[in-house]
Amino acid sequence: MKLPTFSRMRAFVRGPVNGHSADLLRMQNKKSKTNLLGMSPALLESWFVEKGEKPFRARQILRWLHQRYVSDFDDMTDLSKNLRESLHATASLHLPEIVSEQRSTDGTVKWLFESGSGQAVESVFIPEPERGTLCISSQVGCALDCSFCATGAQGFNRNLSADEIVGQVNVANRILPKRSNGVNAITNVVFMGMGEPLANYRNVVAALELLTSDFAYGLSRRRVTVSTSGIVPHIDKLGTDCNVSLAVSLHAPNDELRDQLVPINRIHPIDELLDACWRYAASHSNRFITFEYVMLKDVNDSVAHAGELATLLQNRPAKVNLIPFNPFAGNVYRRSSSDTIKRFQTRLRDRGLVATTRKTRGDDIDAACGQLAGKVSDRIRVRLSDKNLRVATA
Ligand code: SF4
Repeated sequence: MKLPTFSRMRAFVRGPVNGHSADLLRMQNKKSKTNLLGMSPALLESWFVEKGEKPFRARQILRWLHQRYVSDFDDMTDLSKNLRESLHATASLHLPEIVSEQRSTDGTVKWLFESGSGQAVESVFIPEPERGTLCISSQVGCALDCSFCATGAQGFNRNLSADEIVGQVNVANRILPKRSNGVNAITNVVFMGMGEPLANYRNVVAALELLTSDFAYGLSRRRVTVSTSGIVPHIDKLGTDCNVSLAVSLHAPNDELRDQLVPINRIHPIDELLDACWRYAASHSNRFITFEYVMLKDVNDSVAHAGELATLLQNRPAKVNLIPFNPFAGNVYRRSSSDTIKRFQTRLRDRGLVATTRKTRGDDIDAACGQLAGKVSDRIRVRLSDKNLRVATA
């Protein structure tokens, strides 16, 4: 099946497409009602019980919404007429609206989702033979100001709600054709779009519960990855609340350099961060943690840096993903050469580490890693004193 064009997608968010009978315009008018889209299974169950309904109603709604992609109560045929009327009066199923779509020559698709007040966040779908990965956003902008990141350069406006987060997956799955084996196009979800997911903890966990619930998207916890720049207390909390795969934006092998590249390091330095990572891994059968390392020419890419990195991670449940830097307007950094990246990778492998280099995808549509900027206005100008960093990540 061909992907719908942008104009068809606009139609999609307003009416039936691909056999789904969504009447989303009507849903948009219900914004003031309780939006059930982002409610975790437990929360939805309590919501129904409070209304005097049986808890299993939650499972029925979850299946309709997240598995059958039906978002009109009238089409939910196993609900009684009375219940459907009551839901119309009190609840909505509002999906985020797509404002633009871009497609790369390599098959990558980038969507801009409306997030109010003229702002927008980005999601990127990366198709591969064995899987389809959706990279989603968790905040409008980001306050953490990593010096090599297009999102950080935009500043921060607000956290996305759970329905805005999971809505990116829901809408993309409606649009994308199923895989040849009949399963949904999206087999993996990574929180590597705009924002620091662990700085929006409550909403991200609600979205994770939906992504991994058998009554909703049913993704294995290994196929859902949260990437953090290192908010240590929330790494520990995530390990207890929702043991999905963890990726850490490390990008430097010592505190002096990481303080410059990833300012949150001034609050949670490398030792503290790695201790939290090993605790996380230990509590999940020593599952490997991925350490992301953006390759910046003449900044963090020497063989000596590789040696320092290997010393930090050797004999630990760690793998390293080297990311060729994707330049964006106004940024001073340059991408390391292929030879430098290869040398760095070889040095890590010689020290016994699993090290891969991320293939750059979608760079012709600014969808490559680190390039997502969305549209952020009314940003809160955070001066990055340690106090403000603490506030931004509380
Ligand atoms: S790398 Fe992540 S944490 Fe850092 S500024 Fe960008 S989005 Fe925020």
